[in-house]
Amino acid sequence: MNKKAYVGRFAPTPSGLLHFGSLVAALASYLDARAVGGRWLVRMEDLDPPREMPGAQDLILRTLETYGLHWDGAVEYQSARHEAYAECVARLLAQCLAYACTCSRKTLEPHQGVYPGLCREANHAAHDAAIRVRVPALAYRFEDRLQGQIEQHLGREVGDIVIRRRDGLYAYQLAVVLDDAWQGITDIVRGADLLDSTPRQLYLQELLGFAHPRYLHIPLIVQPDGHKLGKAYRSPPLPPDEAPALLTRALRALGQCPPEDLAKAPTDTVIHWGITHWNAERIPRHATLAEADLL
Ligand code: GLU
Ligand code: ZN
Repeated sequence: MNKKAYVGRFAPTPSGLLHFGSLVAALASYLDARAVGGRWLVRMEDLDPPREMPGAQDLILRTLETYGLHWDGAVEYQSARHEAYAECVARLLAQCLAYACTCSRKTLEPHQGVYPGLCREANHAAHDAAIRVRVPALAYRFEDRLQGQIEQHLGREVGDIVIRRRDGLYAYQLAVVLDDAWQGITDIVRGADLLDSTPRQLYLQELLGFAHPRYLHIPLIVQPDGHKLGKAYRSPPLPPDEAPALLTRALRALGQCPPEDLAKAPTDTVIHWGITHWNAERIPRHATLAEADLL
């Protein structure tokens, strides 16, 4: 009844090309949207130019098209959204919900990734400083569609969240929350490497008055040694002529049961099979899956 129409998205970072793991994530979010007649958007998360790989943006989009993952509307670029991010940072600072932090990496090292609040009351100037949002000493809980109930204590396990880095670049946590709300995203389907970021994002949504989307975190495809696939581990880019075979393999990784010969069908046939047979409950309930086991 009066359920909001599904809007999903794929949000690649152009620091490298798509690999099998990103294909599995893109396919899952695409099928989850299309199976209910939803919209599916693509957002380029080009927040960090120094880490960008030249040419990756276009290659990512071309790969999605060759793999039959056609998106709705125009691709949005985070590099074009700086004004919105800046406005939000300024507002949070003005409301004293955020503050400037000048701690060096070295100062923070012994705290193992949990910010101990050193600059909370320091009243540093905002320029040449990171900006952090204060987090409450509370546990955040949410129900992931696949992974079940997830809980994280923001104060103890994370600490105050960086929303603008000291070098002036906006942080992923801020941009993702603003853009998901701005684009009206109702459902986020992505890799389980981001499970850990979700409570931060829930908190920022709450602070900014946004509705929470639903979440489904799929298993992360890893190397046999447990490392994430990606540039550093030489996961090869996705070859255009292997789209049907790799999509079929991605369907298997997602626990779907495609017929043997689907791997030799045209790409659009594979995608169509995926949409009509999509069953998110079949996705393995693990945080990781080894790529080598997925033949
Ligand atoms: N840009 C992020 C990545 O490529 C994904 C962000 C998200 O799905 O929330 O890892
Ligand atoms: Zn600090």
